[in-house]
Amino acid sequence: MGVSGFIEGFSFLQRTKPRIRFLPYNIQCRNFSSSKILNGNDSLLPVLIVGAGPVGLVLSILLNKFGVQCSVLEKNKGFSQHPQAHFINNRTMEVFRKLDGLAEEIQRSQPPVNLWRKFIYCTSLTGPILGSVDHMHPKDFEKVVSPISVAHFSQYKLTRILVKMLENLGFGIHTIEDLEGLDPETLRGREILMGHECVSIDTTDECVTTTVSFSKEGKPLTRKIKSKILIGADGAGSAVRKLVGIELKGEKDLQKLVSVHFWSKELGQYLLNERPGMLFFIFNTESIGVLVAHDLTQGEFILQIPFYPPQQNLEDFNPEICKKLILKLVGQELSDIDVIDIKPWVMHAEVAERFVCGNNQIMLCGDAAHRFPPAGGFGMNTGIQDAHNLAWKIASVLKGVAPSSILTTYETERKPIAVFNTALSVQNFRAAMAVPATLGLDPTVANSVHQVINKGVGSILPSGMQKAILDGIFSIGRSQLSGLILNENNPLGSSRLAKLRHIFEEGKSLQLQFPAEDLGFRYLEGALVPDSKDVVPAPELPSGRRRDYVPCADPGSRLPHMNVKVLSNFPSEETISTHDLVSVDKVEFLLIIAPMEESYNLARAAFKAAKEYKVSSKVCMLWPADTITGFHRGSKAKLAPWKNYMDAIEVKRSSDSLSWWRTCQMTEQGAILVRPDEHIAWRSKSRIVGDPYAKMKMVFSTILGFKSTSMEPYLECLKLQDFEYWSVVLFYA
Ligand SMILES: Cc1cc2nc3c(=O)[nH]c(=O)nc-3n(C[C@H](O)[C@H](O)[C@H](O)COP(=O)(O)OP(=O)(O)OC[C@H]3O[C@@H](n4cnc5c(N)ncnc54)[C@H](O)[C@@H]3O)c2cc1C
Repeated sequence: MGVSGFIEGFSFLQRTKPRIRFLPYNIQCRNFSSSKILNGNDSLLPVLIVGAGPVGLVLSILLNKFGVQCSVLEKNKGFSQHPQAHFINNRTMEVFRKLDGLAEEIQRSQPPVNLWRKFIYCTSLTGPILGSVDHMHPKDFEKVVSPISVAHFSQYKLTRILVKMLENLGFGIHTIEDLEGLDPETLRGREILMGHECVSIDTTDECVTTTVSFSKEGKPLTRKIKSKILIGADGAGSAVRKLVGIELKGEKDLQKLVSVHFWSKELGQYLLNERPGMLFFIFNTESIGVLVAHDLTQGEFILQIPFYPPQQNLEDFNPEICKKLILKLVGQELSDIDVIDIKPWVMHAEVAERFVCGNNQIMLCGDAAHRFPPAGGFGMNTGIQDAHNLAWKIASVLKGVAPSSILTTYETERKPIAVFNTALSVQNFRAAMAVPATLGLDPTVANSVHQVINKGVGSILPSGMQKAILDGIFSIGRSQLSGLILNENNPLGSSRLAKLRHIFEEGKSLQLQFPAEDLGFRYLEGALVPDSKDVVPAPELPSGRRRDYVPCADPGSRLPHMNVKVLSNFPSEETISTHDLVSVDKVEFLLIIAPMEESYNLARAAFKAAKEYKVSSKVCMLWPADTITGFHRGSKAKLAPWKNYMDAIEVKRSSDSLSWWRTCQMTEQGAILVRPDEHIAWRSKSRIVGDPYAKMKMVFSTILGFKSTSMEPYLECLKLQDFEYWSVVLFYA
């Protein structure tokens, strides 16, 4: 049938809503009109990433694994050496576990867990302890719900390893001086250009043109770089976000702080022997601060001190003053304090209104898309998981497997997670404030006093006087921490100490671990097929308390972890995680079934449908733990002619552990389709009713974004699959 015949045949659809416009593009050959730019013009750099922070670097590695060429711009001449983030959560470690041994390298290099499992509250580092909270539970290390556990590793050390990995993957790190022989205007990929700042962005139908400024021999220069896709991974102050006019929504300026990076082996050794911990909250009459022990053995620390500009300015925190502050917080002399960096920063709780813009050519990732309090360590972790969500989608588009509309699901999926993690971080930040508030040092009062001095009557006073008033008020506040008040014999002190004990015991202080949120976050819509009778739960509010993760196989969830043995390796006893069944170096969907006749039918249908959509698929037959080995040999005949399959057998932790299907709360007649980012794209809880091939075609077309489930009736009726050279785009009038 020709095009006009096709149109005439379905002209009734043009009279009804939604209206249909027919556009000539080939669903099989995938010259999607909306992604013409993205998969045409092979001379263009596929992806340009602005920002060589952890998120930009991880995204580069992931894209490279999927065979997508990308280059990175970094405005600084060197990589950041400031140890900002340090807590790597469970899900991020799972992502790292599959990146050439990155997680193992972190585990080898991080301090032993006994040195960082606690938060300690004290009046000085050598003085009385007000309380301590151990954030690690024995089950955190049992590898029941995850093949790996959390880590404590400084951001700059992580960056160093990521850069090394990229170099091993063939990336070149180019300084301005060393650009000879490289034409940055026609980058081919695998370049990291240091000292190059993105200053303007221009989007046309053909490409994104990024103007980059740099300086050579003191002269400011610019150059233009063209790419198919531009990623803003340029941090909390994102130039990309501002240049494309995306606003942030949320709360600004929750707190201003100064971050002091220093070394002291003496302090490290003392704490290592006497009171090892990760965070030390120190409250005394002379000073207040939070000490982050990045590495006790090496004596590497960050001190966070509240900062109240404009009455205070950065000169008030020069290295000598910082040394004195450190000593006040330590409570005794140290001879080897070496302050190496002092950096102010502002805590916000904001999420970008959009993560994707410019005809699906520009995306924001990491702090560029969301910036929230570091309480609970969700910032970098959320950013790395953004990159994990985005990489396979970009690869699918650039390889011509999916239309560019799949990129909009990046925002649909990740923005609610960012909003949720922002709320969780704010709640956790407020929990952190419960301790000083109980001690009579309510930080909200301090902030209000500061506001009055800034904006109220105080603002007309000379700046020196404003500073003196602020210091005076703060010092009166800190007098609450005097030993005369804060002791069991003083009624006020003893009541405060009792309240503190209650806060710690009840888990109402700052928490570090959120397994339910860390592993249990779920995408409710996006590149997935929701359960047909899925009652979409109302968005859950963060509880602020540690809650256990409960394995779940609902569409959008992360694939539950279980140890399995691959039967082709028999008699090897080696076990792998169900996560390892998912490929890391190609965009491939994994179908997990039980070895049953109807499931084999479904698997053959899945292979056929995936082939039609030119997407790679693999099938895993998961045999029950008590199966006699050897049965699996039947899979070959059952699945012929398809070959990309494996038989694996469950490895239960004990005889009363739940089977795989019970863990997933499904029957063994069910099936689970997993995306390349280990999130569940579709599942059938029980036997498929009807034609498995039609079902699997609907599943792949929905996930890849060829049609939405709401359009199914139209597309089914059009029998879209029969038309090799024409496809349909629906427009709602
Ligand atoms: C005190 C503190 C403790 C923290 N602790 C944790 C923690 O334990 N766990 C956690 O997960 N998170 C933590 N965070 C948050 C974490 O540090 C950030 O979320 C993380 O740095 C974000 O990474 P990113 O790659 O998105 O951005 P960044 O790390 O900010 O990197 C962005 C990069 O882009 C570059 N850049 C900026 N503008 C341009 C431009 N115009 N052109 C070119 N390059 C540009 C910058 O120079 C920078 O190198 C903490 C933050 C703070 C402040």
